[in-house]
Amino acid sequence: MSTTTRQIPPPSGDREPLKTNIFAFVQNSQSALAPLFPYVDEGAIVPCAATFRGAPGRRFGRFQHFNTVDEVLLVFGAEGALRQASGLVRVGPKLHMVTAPFEDPEREESVRVVAITQRQLIGKPHREEYRFVCDKCDRRLFVYEVDATPPQRGKQRETLGDYAPFITIAETYEAARRFNADPEARHCKHCGHDNPPFPIESWAWNTHIDQSAIAKIGHDSLTAATAAAARGREA
Ligand SMILES: [Zn+2]
Repeated sequence: MSTTTRQIPPPSGDREPLKTNIFAFVQNSQSALAPLFPYVDEGAIVPCAATFRGAPGRRFGRFQHFNTVDEVLLVFGAEGALRQASGLVRVGPKLHMVTAPFEDPEREESVRVVAITQRQLIGKPHREEYRFVCDKCDRRLFVYEVDATPPQRGKQRETLGDYAPFITIAETYEAARRFNADPEARHCKHCGHDNPPFPIESWAWNTHIDQSAIAKIGHDSLTAATAAAARGREA
């Protein structure tokens, strides 16, 4: 009988190892998707917290997501959720429907906390698509394509700048915003249904984008103050 020993190599030293508790993390996150850690360059492991809660009158809508890389789902908490119990792990198909998987999205007891993890490709293009489909006949209404190729290893700061929002969140928000602004796209050519705007407010991606801008502006001002102090010492 042969056995294989798999080993995780020690950290390489160019990225500080980080850890967090997903429940403590979601205490401070309003976005339905939020990266747990800031590393997105080549080879980085990128876990995001996906969190949902039902509420009276709440509607989540749905969209298809195509992702070049696999997404590994680990359900940490699920109450009132369809098919997905706490502790479940699965790899979804590259093209998958994204929605809140609740039997009843209007119940406050419906809660879900999931980690969705992808590994950034090395030296290969990474593409994503967000596709909105008709509520009535499921046909495709609107497609938004994104080049999500990660920065080269060690070049994240030069390529994206400081505290850039996670591209999947920023671009999903942009796709939904454009879909909502285009009544012609929301009118189904197949069945004639006029689809309502996508309920962006139920996903709150903009909170991640807005907080990223605050972090960047704050960090830039600290950098400027540090540089001014250094000039003062030289004078
Ligand atoms: Zn239709």
